Amino acid sequence: MIENEGIVIKSIDYGDSNKIITLFTISGLKSLNVRGAQKPSSHTFNFAKEFILLKYEDRGKYLIGGKVENYYTNIINNIDLTKSALRIFELINALVEHINNNEIAYEFLKQCLDLINNNADHKLIELIFRIKFLYLIGLAPNFNSCVNCGSKEELAYFSLFDGGMKCNNCKNIMDYHLTKEELDLFRILYLVKLDKLIENIDQIKYNYDDLNKVLNMFYSHFLGFESNVEKIYKKINN
Ligand SMILES: [Zn+2]
Repeated sequence: MIENEGIVIKSIDYGDSNKIITLFTISGLKSLNVRGAQKPSSHTFNFAKEFILLKYEDRGKYLIGGKVENYYTNIINNIDLTKSALRIFELINALVEHINNNEIAYEFLKQCLDLINNNADHKLIELIFRIKFLYLIGLAPNFNSCVNCGSKEELAYFSLFDGGMKCNNCKNIMDYHLTKEELDLFRILYLVKLDKLIENIDQIKYNYDDLNKVLNMFYSHFLGFESNVEKIYKKINN
């Protein structure tokens, strides 16, 4: 019986013919040695592809049975969709030890990949993932009141150092200015459940570059995380 399930987020050659795959599962990351997976003629070849949803059976460090549940074909055939998926994968890969509930994180990842693969706005799904992932790793920015004085009025500045919003009176020269629209959007994307967001996805107005910038700063400041995917894609585009 093949009962385990995971998403292959990394696959590397091992020796002359095997591959080591890294799966994200409801129990976190799992590495497995897939015999013969480098050979296209091998029945295990497909099990070691990145970006697949795999049902598997394992014994020790080895994969002994598998069935591909989803190849996410649209994602792998479109460079922009791939980028969004890669940005999601690299977060999981880098920050997996911070995740406080792998089961929720896994279901959330699957939901997001399905949406991207089924032509939902991939940039928005990526942003939603990156914002909600903050919650899954226990970083909860305070968007509702000034982190300094508790005021709920005139919140227009985001303080990376204090991990939340600041009001007009308490703002510091280092704090990042958010427009009212940006703040509202952050709140919505952070707080509203994914299903509800999807129902109203056409009404969500956003600017990818602005949100991307704030999120990059946040991840970099609190977790020392910098996106390699972004760097690589910038090089490709230049
Ligand atoms: Zn204040």
